[in-house]
Amino acid sequence: MFVDEAKIYLKAGDGGDGCVSFHREKYIAAGGPDGGDGGKGGDIVFKVDDNISNLIDFRYKRKYVADKGQNGSSRNCSGRGAEDLVVSVPRGTVVKEASTGRILADMSGDEPVVIAKGGKGGRGNAHFATSTRQIPRFAKPGFRGDEYEVILELKLLADVGLVGFPNVGKSTLISVVSAAKPKIANYHFTTLTPVLGVVKIEDGKSFVMADIPGLIEGASEGVGLGHEFLRHVERCRLIVHVVDVSGVEGRDPIEDFEAINRELRNFSEDLADAPQIVAANKTDMATPEQIERLREHVEDQGLLFYEISAATTQGTKELMYGVWERLEQLPPVKRFEAQPLTQEELDEKLLSRRDFTVTVEDGIYFVEADWLWDILRSVNMEDYSSLQYFQRVLRSSGIIDKLLEEGINEGDTVSIFDFEFEFVN
Ligand code: GDP
Ligand code: MG
Repeated sequence: MFVDEAKIYLKAGDGGDGCVSFHREKYIAAGGPDGGDGGKGGDIVFKVDDNISNLIDFRYKRKYVADKGQNGSSRNCSGRGAEDLVVSVPRGTVVKEASTGRILADMSGDEPVVIAKGGKGGRGNAHFATSTRQIPRFAKPGFRGDEYEVILELKLLADVGLVGFPNVGKSTLISVVSAAKPKIANYHFTTLTPVLGVVKIEDGKSFVMADIPGLIEGASEGVGLGHEFLRHVERCRLIVHVVDVSGVEGRDPIEDFEAINRELRNFSEDLADAPQIVAANKTDMATPEQIERLREHVEDQGLLFYEISAATTQGTKELMYGVWERLEQLPPVKRFEAQPLTQEELDEKLLSRRDFTVTVEDGIYFVEADWLWDILRSVNMEDYSSLQYFQRVLRSSGIIDKLLEEGINEGDTVSIFDFEFEFVN
């Protein structure tokens, strides 16, 4: 079975917790705090593996959870960071966030990509000693690792995509111009999975061609087979549209040609506007009049027209040279850009999970809220408007109310992460 779509759950490792500990040594009284920091949680890293050709593994294993970082320990020992979890995917896999549909990565290159980040370790109590607080009896828990559902979509990487009705001779063509050996038979839908073949023109000149299962009318509306395969044409630099010019199946070649182009347009305008070359196949069974009729129709639309007979290899070499020449003028295979969240979307997302806790220890008000981290990092404490923004966030999230509820007074210390400030209402 060829699977080119999957939805999986990812959870990067949480950070290890910071440790509460005090230095102890024989004959040395009341040592200072020496609790170490927690280690970082494992990232989930995606990487391309060319031995994998589809996404079937992800139908069986849907949950990927990276390890938690080790907790800190005494004597200022930091916890060890957890190992990254490496997930291998076929080349051409596009990773999208399920909830928004935004692209996280296009796994087309060889560079591994961190898809879910592990949480940072919490800080040990050694960090919290100050002149007024010499015995900090607390440490921070680790931060949570990223967690989300992602959709994987395989979009094959091919320079050229063969499209056309079933049985027009696409598989036969790829089998005579490359080493690919797809199934060929005189019945519809023998090709149920896209097949890639490398076409070698001459030394150093080659390109990748994809045999896409035959499209039928209505495919783009999901009526039948074909629609789900169109995504594999999306990256192609050039479409070779194969038409059975002999009409042996009792169909009209011009109608076929137009129907397929309609399907492409219904799927996406980009696909319909992609460069296209037309290969009139089965010329060994066609009359010169039939061929001329289609040629005129195609050339009227400004498209290149080639006559071939895939079965006898007549004209296939010329077609491949024509394809190569055209490819040389075209941009490389399409890569999809990752779509990062804008600052606003990021804040909104963080604020939507605005859970927090307030604890009072040694008269200091500790606010714990993972989501505040990124906001806090972006705040410039020296800048008035930036501070105002931060105040607004504290107010709108209910943190200020909670602090008042816990009995905070003007001038008391509020601690958020490693940042401490005086409370002013
Ligand atoms: P696909 O469905 O488009 O992949 O078509 P196939 O490559 O499986 O071919 C369908 C049928 O058409 C098979 O029986 C082939 O042998 C036949 N065929 C393919 N090319 C030619 C050709 O150039 N001439 C003739 N006469 N038959 C062909
Ligand atoms: Mg086929």
